[in-house]
Amino acid sequence: MDVSPGHWLDIAVQTPAHSAVGTLLSYRSTVPHAAGQLVRVPLGRREVLGVVWSAGRVPAGLAPEAVKPVLGALEGLPPLNAEWRQLVAFAAQYYQRSLGEVALSALPPQLRELDSTQLARRLKKLQPREAPQAPTAGPTLSPQQAQALAQLAQGPGPFLLFGNTGSGKTEVYLRAVEALLAREPKAQALLMVPEINLTPQLEARVRERFGAEAVVAMHSGLTPAQRLKGWLAAHSGAARIVLGTRMAVFASMPQLKLIVVDEEHDASYKQQEGARYSARDLALYRGQRCGAQVLLGSATPSLESWHHSRAADAEGDAGGRYVRLLMPERIGAAALPVVRRVDMNHQPRRTVLSAPLVQAIQARVQRGEQSMLLLNRRGYAPVLHCADCGWKSECRHCSAFRVFHKIDRTLRCHHCGATERVPRACPACGNADIAPLGRGTEQLEEHLAELLAGVQRPDGQPVRVARIDADTTRLKGSLETQLAQVHSGEVDVLVGTQMIAKGHDFRRITLVAAVNPDSALFSSDFRAPERLFALLMQAAGRAGRDAAQGPSEMLVQTFHPTHPLFEALKRHDYPAFAASELAERESASLPPFSHQALLRADARDQSVAQGFLNAARQALEAELADAPEDAALLAQVSLYPAVPMSLQKVADVERAQMLLESPSRKALHRVLARLQAQLHALRGAPEHKGLIRWLVDVDPQAI
Ligand code: ADP
Ligand code: ZN
Ligand code: ZN
Repeated sequence: MDVSPGHWLDIAVQTPAHSAVGTLLSYRSTVPHAAGQLVRVPLGRREVLGVVWSAGRVPAGLAPEAVKPVLGALEGLPPLNAEWRQLVAFAAQYYQRSLGEVALSALPPQLRELDSTQLARRLKKLQPREAPQAPTAGPTLSPQQAQALAQLAQGPGPFLLFGNTGSGKTEVYLRAVEALLAREPKAQALLMVPEINLTPQLEARVRERFGAEAVVAMHSGLTPAQRLKGWLAAHSGAARIVLGTRMAVFASMPQLKLIVVDEEHDASYKQQEGARYSARDLALYRGQRCGAQVLLGSATPSLESWHHSRAADAEGDAGGRYVRLLMPERIGAAALPVVRRVDMNHQPRRTVLSAPLVQAIQARVQRGEQSMLLLNRRGYAPVLHCADCGWKSECRHCSAFRVFHKIDRTLRCHHCGATERVPRACPACGNADIAPLGRGTEQLEEHLAELLAGVQRPDGQPVRVARIDADTTRLKGSLETQLAQVHSGEVDVLVGTQMIAKGHDFRRITLVAAVNPDSALFSSDFRAPERLFALLMQAAGRAGRDAAQGPSEMLVQTFHPTHPLFEALKRHDYPAFAASELAERESASLPPFSHQALLRADARDQSVAQGFLNAARQALEAELADAPEDAALLAQVSLYPAVPMSLQKVADVERAQMLLESPSRKALHRVLARLQAQLHALRGAPEHKGLIRWLVDVDPQAI
């Protein structure tokens, strides 16, 4: 049969990460297609969406007629530009996933279902009907806001805005966007936030400032139709501003000139499945490639960003490559709360809420001010326990306890979701007297209501206690409703997990308390102190935001009141905390002074999971030892033996991990790639029977 030569194309399609199929597939077409064009192609028996990546050749050993044809293009849709393709290719390579997987998961799912007519109709709707509105005026800038903006206007960056809680960072972001849009008639800006539903205020503020038409949101809470609409608006340039969570870093924005990453330290910028990318890090890469300014902002920057924005010093350190902008003062000269440590060693045994804390709360209620209590454990009690035989409510499927939820009298595993009714008696010995051990937010709420039963508000009404955590906010819209109740003053005492500590501009809170923060002080994860310090600083930042309110206070209940972390917290001294943590990291060669990757294996048996990882490591070491240049490469990378993960079993799957560490990012990546090749080669071997999957986490955030 005669096949016309036509055009040979390499196309990215959705392929499973570990499949044998290469990252790009070859297709032929009778008409030319530009790189970045979206097309429909056959894959197996299905018809799938693909992105034309480059002109290809007939793959060696394949008859031209065996190459499948492109079925059609998505007409009317401009191709995805080279910068977008570069970002996707980089992310795939850096986080060790297939290019097709990263490319296709960065596109709205509904794009796969549309034909050209449906698409044309949607594109037509995007034409702006009216002239874009001029932004409404914001408040007069504080001197330090004006100063930060002036510095921003001077250089390419990247910038780290180190601004205290309540210093008005958001206003700086909005003005930076405003200046850009005024300067460049087509420019687009990307505003990234950790979790959009935690800050419904912000979205409203952005839309109000720039007009609803100019702004689109991008996050996982949208319907498929909303996602497509927003994506098309950004891709076509009709939307000037994209406001989104980590996924928005992949938004197609042909005129992107500014990327803001708010609360850049937040863990939710790291994707925890599939391609485990850091949206913050990709934002920096993207900005550099497409010439967009990048502005990271935080009151408690990640130690990485802090280190990369350090100044040059006299000892010859040239300093970091980010420019640090400082906003130490709160708006309106509102004071930060005074931090008091309550020494729990001097409280009666098993005290939940110490006398000083209870008194402080009572005083707030009587004055009509609000209090916020932070406890990072939801449920009623983390464990149910039998004092007679020692039985505990372990999950059958996980190496974890099931949490007691009193509201519906269930034991729930927070890892696999397994739920059952609380047993009437100890399942092991029949003792009827099984009791909760430890405490969660649900119990704290109950306990508080009892303690405050006789306390009245200034209007004579009884005190109102509310709780916000993952359990109370499961229903769509419930978080917004509950936050609104706090803002409007309907709540006197708010109990919750870290959800309440982040970003909220509460105006009437004058007391914040950390009920039981100690466990993170002695965690095996080297990032635990950094996370704890950030959480407590952020929590402190919710208090005293309005200078018109009385003086504000933060109480920390701890058995280790002299711990340096709490000393630094008392002084609100992030730089001191960061300096001491960084010194420790440096002496232990931990990030940012080295680079890490984690390799994880899941299997039915722990020994299979570990055996698989160790076998790959040994095979690699044997292979590299043969060539001198390879041996030099290997010498730069530490490969540790496989160990069980700290949460060893989840939903009956055993998990093991292996850590790779190197001062050289390049060496780490080269070793990782070759290790992956070993894993692929070994996975079918009979001794690894029972292996379920493996995955790579580059720059892991938890170890
Ligand atoms: P941050 O994000 O730094 O914690 P916000 O951006 O939430 O701080 O600002 C704190 C409060 O100050 C907000 O209520 C905000 O509206 C207000 N604000 C910010 N800038 C100004 C300004 N220049 N003048 C008056 N109020 C401001
Ligand atoms: Zn028992
Ligand atoms: Zn479980």
